[in-house]
Amino acid sequence: MTGDRREPAGVGLSALTKDYPGGVRAVDGLDLDVPDGAFFALLGPSGCGKTTLLRTIAGLESATSGTVRIGDRDVTRLPPGLRDVGMVFQDYALFPHMTVADNIAYPLRIKKVGKGDRRAAAAAVASSLGLSDLLERRPAELSGGQQQRVALARAMAARPKVFLLDEPLSNLDARLRLEARTFLKKLQHELGVTTLFVTHDQAEALAMADRIAVMEAGRIRQVGTPAEVFRRPANLFVASFIGSTPMNLVDARVTGGLVEAAGARLRPPVHVDDGEQVVYGVRPEYLDFSPTPVDEAFHGRVVVVENLGTSSLVTLETGDGVLVHVVVPEDAEPEPGGEGWAAPRPGRALLYREGDLMQNDVTAAA
Ligand code: ATP
Repeated sequence: MTGDRREPAGVGLSALTKDYPGGVRAVDGLDLDVPDGAFFALLGPSGCGKTTLLRTIAGLESATSGTVRIGDRDVTRLPPGLRDVGMVFQDYALFPHMTVADNIAYPLRIKKVGKGDRRAAAAAVASSLGLSDLLERRPAELSGGQQQRVALARAMAARPKVFLLDEPLSNLDARLRLEARTFLKKLQHELGVTTLFVTHDQAEALAMADRIAVMEAGRIRQVGTPAEVFRRPANLFVASFIGSTPMNLVDARVTGGLVEAAGARLRPPVHVDDGEQVVYGVRPEYLDFSPTPVDEAFHGRVVVVENLGTSSLVTLETGDGVLVHVVVPEDAEPEPGGEGWAAPRPGRALLYREGDLMQNDVTAAA
């Protein structure tokens, strides 16, 4: 599966819209450029249109308007079989009455590849995914992780230009999911085939993807590397969606050149004018906790301490009743009831105006 006959195959979507009967606009004028060879996540909450987008790229749904391009071909009106995509469904959709070998060889049977070649190709793909000993079993005789690998092998057998994976890990238990995450990422890098995968799990997208498109209500709100969407969410939607502990987003007002947020007076990370209403954003991981007073810090009472394993999530309630979350390293966690200060680390705070990230001077690029 080294892809010796591979041609470049990025995916390009332009002004793509998908309406379902009854007036639901599941994909709304969406533009997206997925570079050749990328491992690309479509991330967003339930119902934002991720699956519809994937199915429209595959040709299982027809676009209402706009175009889908794979490589240098406009495939918008082509049936799924002519698009050269391999899709893995959330429930794997294996044929229960067929053996593993026949499941994997199925796309080749559809392509009218001869029986001998089919068997050889299926055996080669199965071997690359560690399935060689399971070829004669039926799906019901496999674990969830094995079924997932058979579904992947089936998608790989026809050597598609693009892989489309719909929530590929959602049927696995937590432990297997971590293993499968590493396995998939390694496999994708080895194969180098452009891969789009859908997930609602931000941790999964951050861990696996080279690039992430964050979706809301049929639109893309930000595209970037995991580091970009984590460190500099472009708007409040992405800021509140990304991160296993949500970002602190505090309503603030600018006076005397400083940001006044929940009783704290903080230096703004970008230039702002007095009188502006902004939202001050800082991740709990980027606040330093102190049980004694420090300057330029949120101040409040420790109301909750949650154990995260190697650290704790401490909730401070400020004088005006705002809750500020701080991640505190193990052995430094305070007792509930005491006072605490939480100081933003230099260069880690963000300001949002009218919902969008402000970035208007050199500190924004730091
Ligand atoms: P989830 O993570 O829950 O699977 P999703 O982001 O994949 O969600 P979609 O399944 O693409 O979202 O659905 C997008 C919108 O389109 C939703 O409002 C959904 O109710 C609607 N929808 C999906 N499929 C159909 C359909 N066949 N007919 C009508 N509406 C549909």
